[in-house]
Amino acid sequence: SKIRVGLLFGGRSGEHEVSIRSAQAIATALRSDQNASKYELLPVYIGKDGVWQKGEIAQQVLASGEPLYLTDEKTTSTDLVPSPSLLPEATNFEEIDVWFPILHGPNGEDGTIQGLLTLMQVPFVGSGVLGSAIGMDKIAMKMIFSQAGLSQVKYKTVKRSQIWSNPCIFPKLCDELEAELGYPCFVKPANLGSSVGISKVRSRAELVTALDNAASYDRRIIIEAGVEARELECAVLGNDQPQASVVGEITYQSDFYDYETKYTEGKAAWFIPAQVSDNIANKIKEMAVQAFLALDAAGLARVDFFYVEKTGEVLINEINTLPGFTATSMYPQLWASSGISFSELVNQLIQLALERQPEVS
Ligand code: ADP
Ligand code: MG
Ligand code: MG
Repeated sequence: SKIRVGLLFGGRSGEHEVSIRSAQAIATALRSDQNASKYELLPVYIGKDGVWQKGEIAQQVLASGEPLYLTDEKTTSTDLVPSPSLLPEATNFEEIDVWFPILHGPNGEDGTIQGLLTLMQVPFVGSGVLGSAIGMDKIAMKMIFSQAGLSQVKYKTVKRSQIWSNPCIFPKLCDELEAELGYPCFVKPANLGSSVGISKVRSRAELVTALDNAASYDRRIIIEAGVEARELECAVLGNDQPQASVVGEITYQSDFYDYETKYTEGKAAWFIPAQVSDNIANKIKEMAVQAFLALDAAGLARVDFFYVEKTGEVLINEINTLPGFTATSMYPQLWASSGISFSELVNQLIQLALERQPEVS
């Protein structure tokens, strides 16, 4: 009989709409000639309000692409998981053989959903709790990368409390950041994605504003020395013996790869494979696999780099354990260019999830 795939999408995050588009692409792949005889699709939608919904309504969101607030009074399905706990009952989803969570950002990519699926004792696509949590936390991620010997930009970390509740210490903190990192530097909330809350700053005034802004998103803030570099990305696929794809490059006209540039059609362009020497491409592939293993990531990840052409340096920027997965996203495109079609990629990811299950006789 067919393997029943619980495609989990939507979610309480700023990347809700992207998640719907990723899920639509994966649903199409599951219904493709290659996969339809093997897998049965069971979509499960998490509304913007965090309510879990399977059946008709999930199918409807997948078909229309329109997000829903499931607690809206107009919605009167018996499938509705009651508020306010928003916690799905495992017994509601007993028919699912393997979960495919395609949620981006906080509450989905950060280990929280992965913890829930682990408790449900059903295999799932992608990294477990540890890899997901580290991949979402830019401070923990940098500590792991450093331990793994991967080169990266110079950085400092601060707490929200140092920014908000300490008027005497704050100027001194800014002095230290300026002295150690210089301008331009990047101020980022530790736990976000899609460039939300990130600022590139060039002066003390901008630094103060950026720290205050980042503190409104997270308790922990990271400040990085800015580098002038090309942005290269590499896709990784596998579990204990992960493979790296060809390397891709992102280019744009804006000041940096910010939210608007990422999500406005035509603001960014990419090149696959990136026009770099074999030497640089190989170095990036090797570092991507090292980063994946260092986190104990699983299934998939996209690893992003800065290539400082002037010095030849390759610096790791970050790992994304649930990268954008729409038909036009970098991750599947890198694999397409490496000889693995979208449908085959989805098939392999499900097989990798099943392979991680401890054997039960
Ligand atoms: P996110 O996880 O939100 O994508 P990133 O750390 O990748 O956050 O930063 C978003 C973008 O900001 C990068 O793609 C790059 O354009 C720019 N950027 C971030 N950090 C630096 C840095 N240290 N030097 C130069 N550019 C940076
Ligand atoms: Mg990221
Ligand atoms: Mg990024």
